[in-house]
Order: sequence, then C-alpha cells, then structure tokens
Amino acid sequence: MSVVRLSRYFLPVLREDPAEAEIVSHRLMLRAGLIQQAAAGIYNWLPLGFRVLKKIEQIVREEMDRAGAIEILMPTIQPAQWWKESGRYDDYGKEMLRIRDRHDREMLYGPTNEENVVDIFRRHVKSYRQLPLNLYHIQWKFRDEIRPRFGVMRGREFLMKDAYSFDYDFAGAKRSYENMFLAYLRTFRRMGLTAIPMVAESGPIGGNMSHEFQILASTGESVVYYDAAFEELDLAAEDVEVEALTRLYAAVEEKHDPERCPVPAERLRKARGIEVGHIFYFGTKYSAPMGATVTGPDGREVAVEMGSYGIGVSRLVGAIIEAYHDERGIVWPEPVAPFRVGLVNLRPDDADCTAMAEAMCTRLDRAGVETLYDDTQERAGAKFATMELIGLPWLVVIGPRGARSGLVELRSRRDGTATELGPDAVLQRLCG
Ligand code: ATP
Ligand code: MG
Repeated sequence: MSVVRLSRYFLPVLREDPAEAEIVSHRLMLRAGLIQQAAAGIYNWLPLGFRVLKKIEQIVREEMDRAGAIEILMPTIQPAQWWKESGRYDDYGKEMLRIRDRHDREMLYGPTNEENVVDIFRRHVKSYRQLPLNLYHIQWKFRDEIRPRFGVMRGREFLMKDAYSFDYDFAGAKRSYENMFLAYLRTFRRMGLTAIPMVAESGPIGGNMSHEFQILASTGESVVYYDAAFEELDLAAEDVEVEALTRLYAAVEEKHDPERCPVPAERLRKARGIEVGHIFYFGTKYSAPMGATVTGPDGREVAVEMGSYGIGVSRLVGAIIEAYHDERGIVWPEPVAPFRVGLVNLRPDDADCTAMAEAMCTRLDRAGVETLYDDTQERAGAKFATMELIGLPWLVVIGPRGARSGLVELRSRRDGTATELGPDAVLQRLCG
C-alpha cells in the first residue's frame, strides 16, 4: 500500500516549540512527530521518523553494495573478551556501556565493531586469494556520551553503518579506502547533501588516510577549514577523482595548522560542520593483536591490512533537516521524504471532494506514489500547517470548487509554486 490515511495514522505533531530543543532540526523532529525521547540521548522513532530513517539506510545500503561491500549483521552485545585481545577494553573508558550477564560474564553494548568483525574474519579467511573483502552492517551503537544533545545528532544510542575492509597489502588497502571515499560522495549526494571530505586525525599511523565527511551548517559541532575552491566543485560527478579532491585543502580544526596551511588567507574558509561520515585506514592495529593473518603468494603469514568506514545514519536525519527547512517546517529532499505526496481533502464532508480524493488515492496507490492522505475533519489552516511542518515535497489539494471543475492544486513544498491541473496531469507530473 502506497497510500496512508491520516485519520488512521499515528502522527503526534506538537503545536508549540519544545523547550528542550536548542537547534532547529531537533525542534522540528519533535514538532513533526518524528521522534520522542525515551531517556537522555535515547529516542523512539515514531512512524514518520522511522520512514525517513529507513530511506536513508536504504540509500547507504545501495551505495555500499554498489561499491562491492557485503552486508552482514553483527550483534549489539559483544563479549568483553575480544576487546581485551585488541587492548581497547581498558582504554575505551566511560563511553562504553559495560554489562554483566547472569553468569557474571563481562559483556558490552558495542560502540563500534572492529573486534567483532576481526573475529569473523580470523575464523574463515586464511589466504590472500580471498581478498580484498569488505564487510558492513547497519546496526545500533551505544556510546555513553558525556553530553548527549541536539536530539539524534549526538545521541547515546544511534544507528551507524560501519564497513570494514581487509587487504593483503598497503596498496590494496589504499584502493579499498579510495573506493569507499567515492562511495561516500555518491551516498551523501543522493540525499541532497554536499559533504566535504576533510583531512582528519589519523592516529599513530599517519598519512592522508583518514577523512571526515562534513556538511557545512552553523549548528555543527566541528570547526573546519577549507579552500573556497570546494564551493565550485561538483562533488557528485561520476568521474570525480580522489587525488583531485585531496589536493584541495580541507581539514578539521584538530588537523589545521595555520603555519603550514597552503591556502592563501583570502581563499581560506572557516566554518562549522556536522560530521556525517568518517573513513579511516589503520593497518594492522586490530589484526595483529587478534591474530587475523593470511598467507601471501610467498607462503608467508602476514597480519591483514584494514580500514573502517562509518556513516551516522540516524545523525543524517537531523543533518538533512539542518540543510533543508524554512520558517514553516521541514523541506525534505525527495529521496528521503517520508511520503512524496500529501493529499489534502479540504472538505471530507463534501461528496464531490471525497469522491475526487478517493479516486486520486486509487491512482496514486497504483502508480506506487507514497502518499499521506489527509482525510481528517481538521480546518484547512491546520491541515496546511501540518503538511508544511512535516515537509512532504508535493501537496495535492482538493477543494469544492476544483472538485466540480475537475481540477486539483499541485503545490511544491520547496518553492511554493502552485498549479491547477486535472488528475491525469498530476499523475504525469509526479511519475512522468
Ligand atoms: P564524533 O566526533 O562526532 O563523536 P566519532 O569520530 O566518534 O564522531 P566515528 O566513531 O567515526 O565517530 O563514527 C562514525 C559516524 O557515526 C560519525 O561520523 C557520526 O556521523 C556518527 N556518530 C558518532 N557518534 C555519534 C553519536 N553520539 N550520535 C549520533 N551519531 C554519531
Ligand atoms: Mg565520538
């Protein structure tokens, strides 16, 4: 079923601004009934929010699959044992939620899955011939953040896509890294976002092999520096080259060195950013202590070269709203909108209006156009306010005058333009 009736749906919108929300995306997510807080940094995903989350997840999945990564699902709960092997158990500190089961075994709620994926790998992969390999999953994480805030942007429980690459040598690892780099540009572009790859902290290994993907937004938590030339680049172009992109300067604050910055002052931009993804090469940091080795062509055993690649799936819902809203509410980009069309019946008590609206529903449903049909008895003003708040890309408005002349109004949420059209023309516009 592509059509959902509002009278039978669950859409708990708020008329007032919630006091606890400091930034616009958090405010709008609460007001539009996308989420509801369960505890600090832990959220319920209500029907509309859940639909958006699934859309984003699906785009991420398609681009990972296209790039050759293979989807698995690792658990949320992990044995502490793996983390003791890698040496991270004590280092991770209070951000890790540690649990004991009934047998008094030490467990934890995974903040990330390097150890887990290495354990899968080491039991099955023995030869360089089985490489390269990239395994990913989309799974809830828990990090007991000291200051959860801004709604889903910095949650304690959050949904992440994390991929892990395995290669025989550094050259292979570099190829895997660049492959993910390009997949990330495509992924964010499909959601209507321009994410700038920024040189990020790469740990003791060094090199240029850690990038954060940052969406510029005044409410972002990161401070970033970049070459103004980025503003003229088409980051979504199919043939965009990693080399070309990494030649241009862009760095997060921790990596920015004013003394050594190659960009002249007039071309250097300082801005705030939301980190929506992070890719990272870390060599044998986990494979060596955990014994994930393969035999090379020369018969020698070597620890496998790895990288990890995260995307903040639930954070993206907030990030997209930061980029797409106006004073009346959210303005969803089509690929992630919870419904493409809001069908507003202004007078459900009027037989002509309702007949026309029902006919329209049938046609939209057949055409597979995801539609939220407002068949409620609310006043017109309230109906429009709700539709504008929840930000569906298209509104189809049916009123008594149009119903008699066979016309409906098609309105674009993005630019507000409205046209009177017959139902055929509406279908054509939406599907053609
Ligand atoms: P941050 O610096 O924002 O804490 P991080 O460097 O700890 O992020 P990673 O471990 O690289 O993040 O996680 C991959 C992605 O998961 C991040 O790019 C971000 O989009 C998302 N993410 C990380 N922490 C959170 C959180 N607390 N809430 C929501 N999303 C998060
Ligand atoms: Mg963090």
